[in-house]
Amino acid sequence: MRLSRYFLPVLKETPAEAEIVSHQLMLRAGMIQQLSAGIYSWLPLGWRVLQKVEAIVREEMDRSGAIEILMPTIQPADLWRESGRYDAYGKEMLRIKDRHERDMLFGPTNEENVTDIFRRHVKSYRQLPLNLYHIQWKFRDEVRPRFGVMRGREFLMKDAYSFDLDLEGARRSYDAYFVAYLRAFHRMGLTAIPMVADTGPIGGDMSHEFQILASTGESEVFFDAAFEDIDFGDPNLDPERLKALYAAADEKHDPATCPVPKDRLRSGRGIEVGHIFYFGTKYSEPMNATVSTADGADVPVHMGSYGIGVSRLVGALIEANHDAAGIVWPESVAPFKVGIVTIRHDDEAANALAEDLYRKLTGAGVEVLWDDRDERAGAKFATMDLIGLPHQVTVGPRGAKSGRVEVKDRRGGAKDELSLDAAIERLAR
Ligand code: ATP
Ligand code: MG
Repeated sequence: MRLSRYFLPVLKETPAEAEIVSHQLMLRAGMIQQLSAGIYSWLPLGWRVLQKVEAIVREEMDRSGAIEILMPTIQPADLWRESGRYDAYGKEMLRIKDRHERDMLFGPTNEENVTDIFRRHVKSYRQLPLNLYHIQWKFRDEVRPRFGVMRGREFLMKDAYSFDLDLEGARRSYDAYFVAYLRAFHRMGLTAIPMVADTGPIGGDMSHEFQILASTGESEVFFDAAFEDIDFGDPNLDPERLKALYAAADEKHDPATCPVPKDRLRSGRGIEVGHIFYFGTKYSEPMNATVSTADGADVPVHMGSYGIGVSRLVGALIEANHDAAGIVWPESVAPFKVGIVTIRHDDEAANALAEDLYRKLTGAGVEVLWDDRDERAGAKFATMDLIGLPHQVTVGPRGAKSGRVEVKDRRGGAKDELSLDAAIERLAR
């Protein structure tokens, strides 16, 4: 992509309404624009990142055996009356009427919707387990939308739903999500700590929130220092071992009963990026989602739901990856992998070299943003640092004479002068 033909409305000033660094940087880097409180348009750069995050979540869901569907954003109130949640949900639900005066709602979540799909088509234990997920916009009329996309009113969520014959089956499904979540966050370069969460009236130990450590997190979190030694990239992560380690957010943490000795207890602020939850027959019973067992009895199916805040993750990623100059994207979610800066717009040799590099990298499948604008070099470097592409290549008149370019890593700032071929070889890896 040539920046001269792109749409990257960066801001010079930090908008006063943005309290936390990720919100400030998303606005300054031209990633999002607010339309109304907690409701955002995703501009090209932000949209690219959102799609990268979504793709990683999708791949890990597919790998875990879940099957993707797409349920609507608008739902009929009658379905929610069946589960009893239409009245119970409160003001976070946006209630609307269609032209026939029928009560509708903008979905804050989809348990009822997916249970309805299940009950129409699945009748036997032989069709279990079944895991369905979708990635869809939700609306929750939050009391205090804030921090940009971190607590929006309209936000993108991946929500998955498990259907099993019994608790034992549900536990297997739960563990599969537990591991898939850790893998997904790890691939984004994030360390998410699974923390025990409220199970409500169901009880038991099958509810975990996944929290990213960041100073601007909404909750205070406490965890065993042993988490610092866990290799979250291990393909054979053992969920039971991780669940056995103590970790809890403030509302669950009790210093009096905490089993971790003081010198091994770590604390910090956490951003909740995911939540997994087993709720048994809470929806299947009132909504008549039953399956026949091997003995011919009809039993309500055991369910769980599993959410990831896809749009919140974009903010969380920036909270965990930035410096004074701007965003520092992990490669797996970067909007472009490489940024090229030509420092003298009028220098023919430099432009020809940059064009050659741009074509060859793009041809090799590398996502490149080339700042080919007629701007001061200083302003171009500032923009590149602000938008945080992992690799920056500077092409100037001096290097162009000998066919050399400068390659800088955004993270760490290491610089190397390389021949064109060596640069391509490194960047196309
Ligand atoms: P919170 O306690 O932050 O309100 P929640 O318990 O309401 O979260 P869930 O219903 O479990 O959240 O939703 C799954 C995930 O969706 C959360 O872990 C979070 O990452 C994300 N999420 C929830 N509410 C919002 C919101 N208002 N804006 C952006 N992301 C959200
Ligand atoms: Mg909430």
